[in-house]
Amino acid sequence: MPFDLVIANGTVATAADVFKADIGIAGGRIAQIGGTMEGAGRRIDASGRYVLPGGIDSHVHIAQASGPGIVMADGFDSATRAAAFGGNTTVMPFCLQERGTSLAAAFRDYRALADGASHTDLGFHLIVTDPTPQVLGQELPALIAEGHRSVKVFMTYEAMRMDDAAILATMDVARRHGAKVMVHCENEDVIAFLSERAAEAGDVAPRAHATTRPVAAEREATHRALTLAEVVDLPIVIVHVSNGAAIDEIARARARGLDITAETCPQYLVLQADDLSRDNWEGAKYVCSPPPRDAAEQEACWRGLRSGLFDLFSSDHCPFRYDDVQGKRNPAGLRSFRHIPNGIPGIETRLPILFSEGVMKGRIDLPRFVALTATNHARTYGMYPRKGTIAIGADADIAIWNPEIRKTIRHADLHDAADYTPYEGMEVNGWPETVVLRGTPVVEDGRLVADAAGREVLRHG
Ligand SMILES: [Zn+2]
Repeated sequence: MPFDLVIANGTVATAADVFKADIGIAGGRIAQIGGTMEGAGRRIDASGRYVLPGGIDSHVHIAQASGPGIVMADGFDSATRAAAFGGNTTVMPFCLQERGTSLAAAFRDYRALADGASHTDLGFHLIVTDPTPQVLGQELPALIAEGHRSVKVFMTYEAMRMDDAAILATMDVARRHGAKVMVHCENEDVIAFLSERAAEAGDVAPRAHATTRPVAAEREATHRALTLAEVVDLPIVIVHVSNGAAIDEIARARARGLDITAETCPQYLVLQADDLSRDNWEGAKYVCSPPPRDAAEQEACWRGLRSGLFDLFSSDHCPFRYDDVQGKRNPAGLRSFRHIPNGIPGIETRLPILFSEGVMKGRIDLPRFVALTATNHARTYGMYPRKGTIAIGADADIAIWNPEIRKTIRHADLHDAADYTPYEGMEVNGWPETVVLRGTPVVEDGRLVADAAGREVLRHG
């Protein structure tokens, strides 16, 4: 029997093409595309369905230390289960080096949390917050050489931010050892200044989170990150871009010849700063950084998705429970927005939101959807062509989408361990029905049907 699995009669899409073909899978990989396929352990009839590469979510926070008394809602089991139900087959979480600690030790501990617990494949990014000589001279180069070729730095958050000198030094090590650097671009001094002023004025409700993190703070930091990368001569990723001014900075830097990857997220397409004004502190459910903006900035992000300015569409899943003393409604957070943990859940809803708002509403086509949600992630982070496409020899990571499904997003139907979704009540068209990881169905008929068999994908330059 030549094939373990045949996915028959579907419409296949890659980042380049849309075509009708059967897919033959053997040994966890795609073995044949099109033509007759006799003899298979199993056939899945995909009539009327789209057969797409499994989603890769390259910006996901799981079980990350989040400050005293605050606990992230998801561990690897719940986060990757939710990811699989949302059509994903690979996710990329962040290993955080807390200040004063070893990056190598942090990585060892973090990777152990994922052992036997992941329902998708994984690639690990490294967050550097304390670039000591030991970290930059030994630990980071060793981890990069092992195949963890992406490093994230923060320009904001008091406990994580690095100044320009520290970012330059980290970028330099990344360049010499062949890693990419991802940058969270917001000017911390601007935010601290505005937050102080808001607190003095008694402006402490969740909405102040948005007003103290204005577009200008993101635009300036984006420009500065691009400048530092230009000086070091390093390809970088500008993560979670929220607005047109930051987009313009990226376009100008590209015109100067810089190698830049740009990312945006669902929250910048369908949420707004006004959501942070909701009554009874419910605005806390929408506190994330950068904050959601307004209708004009949403449109700017859509233009960026259509035009090709954005390469990546990620969730920035960063889940905290709402009604929880260790989450959004922690005691200090109820007194001031400054203590509301930053981040929102979205790992399961990322693909359905873009499919529905983008593909079904005619804003982007199916190949662009595939590029933004899978192929470009694999290319950016060194997993292509093993991941992120439907091609002979690639891992058989496939999501079978039914465009006829109409659904109202309800947290009760999702699989993460938060207690809300910021997209509650949103109507979407299209949902992934069957999700296959390396040839094995993981999600079928609304149920998880496989053990947690996710593996780490090492990335060698
Ligand atoms: Zn993030």
